[in-house]
Amino acid sequence: MRLLSLLFTILLMVSGCSREQVNNHQIVVFGTYVTISVWGAEAEQEQRAIAAITQDFQWMHRDWHAWEPGALVDVNRQLARGEPAELIPSLQPLLKQAQQLSEQSEGLFDPSIGALLKMWGFQQNERPDGPPPAPEKIEAWLNDRPTMADVTITKTTVSSKNSKVQFDLGAFAKGVAVDRAIARLREYGIDNAIVNGGGDLRAIGSKGGKPWRVGVRHPQGAGILAAIEIRGDESVFTSGNYERFNEYEGVRYAHILDPRTGRPVEGITSVTVIHDSGAVADAAATALAVAGVENWHRIARKMGIKMAMVVEESGVVHLNPGMRSRLQFEGGEPRLQISAPL
Ligand code: ADP
Ligand code: MG
Repeated sequence: MRLLSLLFTILLMVSGCSREQVNNHQIVVFGTYVTISVWGAEAEQEQRAIAAITQDFQWMHRDWHAWEPGALVDVNRQLARGEPAELIPSLQPLLKQAQQLSEQSEGLFDPSIGALLKMWGFQQNERPDGPPPAPEKIEAWLNDRPTMADVTITKTTVSSKNSKVQFDLGAFAKGVAVDRAIARLREYGIDNAIVNGGGDLRAIGSKGGKPWRVGVRHPQGAGILAAIEIRGDESVFTSGNYERFNEYEGVRYAHILDPRTGRPVEGITSVTVIHDSGAVADAAATALAVAGVENWHRIARKMGIKMAMVVEESGVVHLNPGMRSRLQFEGGEPRLQISAPL
């Protein structure tokens, strides 16, 4: 997830009155467009919900950003001094859940690797364009090897026995934000909607009794790889190496890093996860990308994921039967490798 300091709202009311139709609202935040589609809500409630979500996104951006001044940057600075830091209420549950998910993922999802991400140029608003870090720098980081397991979180503080821990919630915060937006919609009596942040989304209810139909981005270029129908309440999150990467002297470096090697993930183009919670789906999609073809199934099980798809650079698509039954491939079925059930 990328965050932009610039934040403003474009309210795109497709039409004034809101019954029996879909209205789309766009909010520019987190370096992407978040589109909120609402079906059949009362106009005034809808407006109020969108205004509340816009405000929520503003404080999330401020409190959770890894390199723009704010609460998380303050925490990181304090930890680097070897001191415990105060935790504001909006960060506490986030770090707590991130720690739990990190443990379930055997540390493949690890939001304490901010210093490594910075070294690789992934803590800036522009796309990185420099050379990869010197091998000695990566070795030094690996010697220090900060992990979420070094961290102790109380109700109001966070401390780390490793002063190299630097939080970066880029693999996780968008999922949390999408979940919060859905909770807000429900607070305002809206039960049929999609919150979609650049292809990562959660859908609730239906479109006038018909399921929501959403697309999974195609890993190689534009377009849609498959469609998924959602009825009820589900999140679909994709972690990919096709949008954010560093290309230097013809080599592409993925923005998903393997904390065990200190280097970008190789051989995986994208991972898509379907799960109730957006937060869990977001973290899991990143973890499974690190796990790769050999280990995605085990890590998915550990994280409680029932539907996952891993697209290899070779084009082979690995997925479990539950995921298979949900996907309608567009433009011909790719080569599928169907795993044991999850
Ligand atoms: P996207 O931005 O495509 O939604 P992700 O959800 O996978 O993709 O998030 C990628 C971001 O997560 C990176 O830009 C970086 O900030 C962070 N990140 C990269 N590797 C890891 C990792 N192994 N564990 C936790 N966070 C990571
Ligand atoms: Mg993620």
